Amino acid sequence: MSANPFRGKAPAAAVPRVISEFVLSASGPEQFPKEVDPEIAFLGRSNVGKSSLINALVGQKGLAYTSSNPGCTQAINFYRVGDSGYFVDLPGYGYARVPEARRLEWKKLIESYLLERQVLQLAILVLDARRGWMEKDRDLRRWLEVHHRPCLVVATKMDKLKNQSERQHSLASLRQGADEVMLCSALTGRGVREIWQAITKTRSSQ
Ligand code: GDP
Repeated sequence: MSANPFRGKAPAAAVPRVISEFVLSASGPEQFPKEVDPEIAFLGRSNVGKSSLINALVGQKGLAYTSSNPGCTQAINFYRVGDSGYFVDLPGYGYARVPEARRLEWKKLIESYLLERQVLQLAILVLDARRGWMEKDRDLRRWLEVHHRPCLVVATKMDKLKNQSERQHSLASLRQGADEVMLCSALTGRGVREIWQAITKTRSSQ
């Protein structure tokens, strides 16, 4: 596997291992790392499966924190992936039990990252394949469009759809919100290779 996944070829195996490490957790823009290398950001509702997707992409189970306790991360986590890029895990949104003040903090933190980060190459909006588009996902997608931030929509937890009819129903509703939605499962590794290809394509087109 290339040590430079942002520039090299997409991994051949379904779950490759990419040398990666946690760099820092930032609760404000002043803590963000210096803008040197390209960044791929991951966005989505709490518990949607963002951390698991990051772990599946790097082939390393414990890199990003995964939890069945939604709403617990309120910081932006930076991971060095390969030798010239970062994955950036943005705190999950839409958890009902989070107080309004915390919601506003989330908005401020996320917007400061998404608006000002020059090295941001791609925002990956993660959806739960069983739940499809929720209002906040649509809002965020529109917001990214308005601000000209490239966005890739990924529906994860596909393994939870048990039969053909569930899969077809999910796909139809996912496609109502975006022309292209990539399907994946952190559990089985489905779609990991295709997501890497999309990341590599974005990298080479910029
Ligand atoms: P995050 O809050 O968005 O980072 O979500 P996590 O990655 O912590 O995942 C939330 C829960 O969903 C955890 O219990 C994960 O094990 C589970 N999960 C995440 N991705 C998948 C998947 O692709 N398939 C299945 N079956 N479970 C998943």
